[in-house]
This record gives sequence, C-alpha cells and structure tokens, in this order.
Amino acid sequence: MPLTSADLAPADASSRRPWHPLSLLLLLALWLSTAGNLPLWRAMWALTDNHGLRTWLGLVGFALIVLSATAVLLSLLVWPRWRKPAGVVLLMVAAANSYFMFTYGVVIDPTMMANTVQTDVREVRDLLSWNMLLVLVLGVVLPGWWWWRQPVQKLPARRLVGRQLGLAGLATVVLLVVVWASFQDLASTMRNHKSLRYMLNPFNTIYASTRMVVGQTAQVRMPLQLIGEDAALARAPGGAQQPPLIVLVVGETVRAANFGLAGYARDTTPQLRQLQDTGELAYFAHVTSCGTNTQVSVPCMFSHLGREAYGKNDTPYENLLDVLQRAGMQVLWLDNQSGCKGVCDRVPNTSTLALKDPALCPDGECFDEIMLRVLPERLAQLEKDRGAGPAPAGTVVVLHQMGNHGPAYYKRTPADKKVYQPECQTNVLQNCPAQDIVNAYDNAVRYTDHLLSQTVRWLKSQPRPTAMLYVSDHGESLGEKGLYLHGMPFMMAPQEQTHVPMALWLSKPMQSQLGWDGTCWKKLVAEAVSHDHYFHSVLTLAQVKTRMHKPELDVFAACPSRPG
Ligand SMILES: [Zn+2]
Repeated sequence: MPLTSADLAPADASSRRPWHPLSLLLLLALWLSTAGNLPLWRAMWALTDNHGLRTWLGLVGFALIVLSATAVLLSLLVWPRWRKPAGVVLLMVAAANSYFMFTYGVVIDPTMMANTVQTDVREVRDLLSWNMLLVLVLGVVLPGWWWWRQPVQKLPARRLVGRQLGLAGLATVVLLVVVWASFQDLASTMRNHKSLRYMLNPFNTIYASTRMVVGQTAQVRMPLQLIGEDAALARAPGGAQQPPLIVLVVGETVRAANFGLAGYARDTTPQLRQLQDTGELAYFAHVTSCGTNTQVSVPCMFSHLGREAYGKNDTPYENLLDVLQRAGMQVLWLDNQSGCKGVCDRVPNTSTLALKDPALCPDGECFDEIMLRVLPERLAQLEKDRGAGPAPAGTVVVLHQMGNHGPAYYKRTPADKKVYQPECQTNVLQNCPAQDIVNAYDNAVRYTDHLLSQTVRWLKSQPRPTAMLYVSDHGESLGEKGLYLHGMPFMMAPQEQTHVPMALWLSKPMQSQLGWDGTCWKKLVAEAVSHDHYFHSVLTLAQVKTRMHKPELDVFAACPSRPG
C-alpha cells in the first residue's frame, strides 16, 4: 500500500480525527460552565446547610441553565474565522474573573469593569502573585493550548450556520424548560443573593462591558453641561478679608471601623485626637460613601447630583471644582493615586506618584507626604502663572491620597511609621493571619493620621485663614463575611465598605472669617450624613454662593451664613 503524506506525518494534530464544530463548542461550553465558574458553584454550595436531594436538584437545574445559556452564547458568537482566539479570550475572562472572585470575594459588575479598564501598571503589579500564575496555567495556558491545536471539520458555510443556529435554538428550549421547572427556587435564590448574578462567567463581563461602553458613548456624544453659572463670592471682596486656603484631602479606602476617632479599640489617629481635644477639629461619626470604589465615589463626591441621581446619570456635568473656579477661587489638584477620574480635568493638576524623592519615594512610588512636599512650590508656580491677573478670592487644594489602597497595605507606610507588627507582606490576603492584615491596614490609617496632622501643622504656618476637610472615598472589607477589598455593588455592600471617616479642622482666623462660633460647625457630627453633603458643605466652607446650594445637604447648616 502506498504511503500518503498523512501516514508519514508525526502523530500530531493533523493526524487525529477532526472535531465536529458543534462538539467542540459544546466542550467549551461545558468547561466554561464548570471549571470556568468555580466561585459561582462554591457560593451556590455554601447557600444551604443541608445538602439534601432538593439542594442537589437545584444545583443540577442551575448547572443546566448555565450550560445551556453558555451554549446559546457560543453558538451565536463563535464562528470558524475567529474560533481559536475567541475560545482563548473566553478562557482568559473566566480564569481572571474566577481568580479575583476567589481571592478577594469581589464580583464583576459595571463599576468593577470600569476600574479594571482604568487601572495602571502599579496597581496590576500590586495584584500579581504565584496563585495568579497557577490559575493562569491551569485555566488558560493548558486548556487554551489544547483548544488551539484541535483539528476541526470544515462544513459548508450554509450547513454550519444552520447547525449552529439549530444548537442555539435547542439550548434555548432547554434553558426555558429548566428555568420554568425550577422558577420558584431560582427566583428566590436570585432575589436573596443578588451577587450571584455578577458571578456568572463570562456573562458578567459581557454585561458589564456593554453597560460601560453604552454609558461612555452616551457621555461622549453630549457636550459638557455647565453648573453653578451664578457662582460668586459670598464674602465681601478685598479689605481686611484675606483669601482663605482650604485643603480638601480625599482619602482612599479608609473605613470608619478602623479609625481611632470613630471609637476603634486601637488608637490609629492619635494626632487627630489631640486636635479634637483642643476643639480645633470635628469628627463626623456617621458618614456614608457614595460608592464602594474610587471610580464611582470620587466623581460622585464632587458632583452636585448626589448618589441616587449620579448612579443613573449619563450626562457629563461640571463639578464642584469648576464652580469654585468660576467664583474666583484658585484650584489645585495633587494626585498621589491613579488619577482624579475626570474631576480635575479643567483645573491645574499634578501627579506626584512617580516623583523622585529618595526619602518619600524609595521604591519608585511615593508615600502620601510627597504631596505636602511639593505643595508650596506648586502654589508658588500658580501665583507666577497668574502674572498680572486678578488676585484669587481664595485657594482650594485637593490632595488625592494613596491612603489605604490594597491589597498591598504594607506598601503604604514608610518603615519608620509601622507601629503594629507583624504586617501581612503579601497581596494574597487569605495567606496571611487575619491580625497581620489588620496590622498592615492600621499602619496605613495611622500614616493618614500623620499626613493630616502634618497638613494642619503646615496650614497653621500660613499667614491666612486656613481649613482642612478630610473624607475617605469608600471603606474596605478585611475578611469579614469572606470578603476582601471593596467594590461590592452599593445595594449589597457591607457597612465596612460604605461607612467612612470624615474630619474638619478650622484655624481660628478661618472661624472668624466665616463668622462661626466654636460649636455651629460641629452640630451635625452625630447625624447621619453622606458624600451627598460634600458639594454643598464645601461651597459654604469656601464662602461661594450659588442657587445650586442646598442647605438641607450642608453639614454647616447650623452656622450663620454670610450675606452676599
Ligand atoms: Zn478608592
């Protein structure tokens, strides 16, 4: 018998029987809905204590739903021309999502997606770990390599389209039947455990990216909407009234639960406490954040909309800083984080994260004190740039902290500021004893205490009325209920992620310029307030009046307001 070239070829892919395209699609669907969804299955399993017949039936039913939904998706989306890369991309999505859900208890929703897209190299470096490499090998490299090498039968185009659409139709029927049969249990599970729907790979990613892209294109299409066009100074200009200097410190990932002034067992804020004891500082005990991540919270704080309206809003609006600038204030944003999320787009801003300072930036990344180091020269530069222009009515400086940005909390404090030991020194938080995570986290809170008191010390040296308002952007989970980090959808987020510290310090000259007595600005310290109050309260602090100001959202409502 004559030898053909196929006989001579080594036993590699080309000599094996090629797969029918539909079998291969089903195999991928099977892998994605099982191995690609381990966190989902673990969460489902953990929902019930008694794993009896009903639980099993429920799980099998849910597995059928996931499998048939995945089959519908694949048969509609995966066609021969991009079959190989599409399979690998899906494997990557499932593996990456699973890793983060397992490691940090997060779920994949639109804001988490936006975070991922806007992340930078430093943040990625903070997240890399050996476990991640392992997941990559088991979840992407090995199955991906197999997938790429499989020979597939070539069907005539019309027949393939017919078969694949047929499969989609059949899977849809299975999906509907199982959903119908298990509707009662399914509906109540989904209602009570909303986070499950954000755990379903790869649908969570598809949903989140679509929502994000739709939102962004809607924003791009609309022109910037001006707000507070009537903004003006509420203070009599000129005269003995010196232009005030207000520092707004936007904190990062600090939760109230670990803040000394909030009653935490550990005194993580000894220096702020001293200021409070002398009556110069007010601590607001019940402040709720606008979101559970920077991406939402920071723009929301500076927006006039408030949490509910901000969540539904697709219109690009100006923000608090634009209004302050319009009223004649000089505004400066210093950023020691991954950016201001659009808030500082129209005001002078400087990133300090990658500056070179041997003491404050030892490993190519700067501690938050770097902002205080560069602040005087940046203010001097602003004055120089102004030239012969009109003198500003005052200055508002925003310091955007790195704060307690996780999971590598230990990287946020200089060696000589580490009070609590031992510290968790890895970003795979589960590998650390709970107390070591808390130690590293608390050291970072204490460093914020240091930063804030250094800020006050510097402000006291300035020959003008000064103020400092600190508020954290959102909280953090440190392992409570199996959750780490932050970013839970707001409606289901635990208090650890939404209860944030807020503190205000006013110099004596500032108090008299505002015409405030010793107590009016402390009236609301025990009331429930939120980031919704930020916009309106800062306007009052900066003595800027506009029709947009809502007294009911002003924490200084009890103070006398200056006549315009
Ligand atoms: Zn944040």
